[in-house]
This record gives sequence, C-alpha cells and structure tokens, in this order.
Amino acid sequence: MPILHTEAITLRRRRGREADALVTLFTRRAGKIIASTRGVLKTTSRYAGVTQPFNHLNVILYAKVQEQEIWTLTQVSLVESFDAVQGDLKRIAWASCLAEWIEAFSGDFESNLAVWDLLLDTLRGWNRREPTEEELIQCQWRLLVSAGLQPNLHHCHRCGGRESSAWYYLPADGCLACAACVHQGLRLGHGAIQALRRMTGPAPAPLIRLTPQQKNEIRRLLLTHVEYHTGVRLRSPLFLEQLDF
Ligand SMILES: [Zn+2]
Repeated sequence: MPILHTEAITLRRRRGREADALVTLFTRRAGKIIASTRGVLKTTSRYAGVTQPFNHLNVILYAKVQEQEIWTLTQVSLVESFDAVQGDLKRIAWASCLAEWIEAFSGDFESNLAVWDLLLDTLRGWNRREPTEEELIQCQWRLLVSAGLQPNLHHCHRCGGRESSAWYYLPADGCLACAACVHQGLRLGHGAIQALRRMTGPAPAPLIRLTPQQKNEIRRLLLTHVEYHTGVRLRSPLFLEQLDF
C-alpha cells in the first residue's frame, strides 16, 4: 500500500460526502494530489482548521494503489499558517487566483520544486504585506514558463517587427501580431507589451507599476491564453473583477 509523507499546501477544499472534505494539495514531493479527509467538516474535528486553504502542512497520505485518483489524508500537522492571507478577503482572492493557476498547470503526482518554492515564497510575502497585481502577473508568467506555455511577446508573428502602437494577441499561435498586420482580436497597447517584456525578461524588473488599463489588458491576455491552451475555465478572474481591486 503506497504511503506518502510530505510537506503540502492546501490549494482548495470542497465538500465531499456528509462531513467529509476533498482537499486539493500541492505537495513538495509529488505535486498535486487530491485527498479525502474523513469528518473534517464536523465542528469537533481537530483537522477542520488545519486543512483550510493556504496552510503549510506536514501530511501523511495513503492509497490502495499508486494510480488511485483520490488518496486518503491520514495525518496532518501545521508547519506554518498564513493568518494575514486567510483573514483578508483581498489576499484570499489573490492567493486563490494563484492556487487556481497552479492547479490548472499541474498534473497529478508531478513533483515540481520550482512551483513549490514559488507558492511558498509568494504566500510568505503576501502574509507580510499587501499583494500587488504586478507580483501576481510575475507568478503567473513563471508558471507559464514552467509549463513551457508562455506566449511569445518579442516580435510580430507575421512581419517580425518589435515596435507597434498596438498589438493583437493571436490565441491559436500563442503570439502577438502588430497593428500593421492584423486588425482584430484581443488588442493591447504598446505600453502593456513593453511592461510585460520588462517584467518577464531574463532579469525581470522588480518595481514596475502598471496603469489600471495595462493591468486590465495583461489580465485579459493571460486569461485568454491560459483558457485557450489548457482548456480550463478559470473562476478567479471573475472573483477579482467582482471585488474590483
Ligand atoms: Zn507585423
């Protein structure tokens, strides 16, 4: 019977049968794993608080066979909690967006230490200070790179030009075309593309501040790109827009 002892962070928790819950964990040793937890939603359960999203845990999981889709969480202990994230609606929204992206890009049982470190470092940072959309975008970009799915922002897919007053994103190609070559699709100003190039280059600029319009354009670009290339319908952008950050 396979048993896994590992550090984990809860990405999401949803209701299972009766008072059971299904938790989606990102584990240090084995990437994404869905686990069931018996009776965790009862108020008397000692695991109720500890399995809520964004806690850093030590867990022991088991399954009857390795390929089992849902494992069983048998033991869990708290390593580190991020109280400032869990207690603030705005930070929950940012963290949920990051968690959703990690879930969309991670295959079950695929260990990825770069993603593990990104998640842990980001939660620690957002526990100390307010998240920014620029940080979220840089995290999203690193996830795209980790999955080999980043769009090509360097030049026009049609003519090779690097400068244009406006750009159009071409989902099927995962590329941009300049305004001289294409006149339809998702339009982005040159400022947004220049900022994104600087934020995601080999030596990313840490202190770029985007205008609200640039944030909006980049958010739509990333959302369109991810939904097109993963087939996953993301829920968190809607949540972020409703809260109007
Ligand atoms: Zn062009």
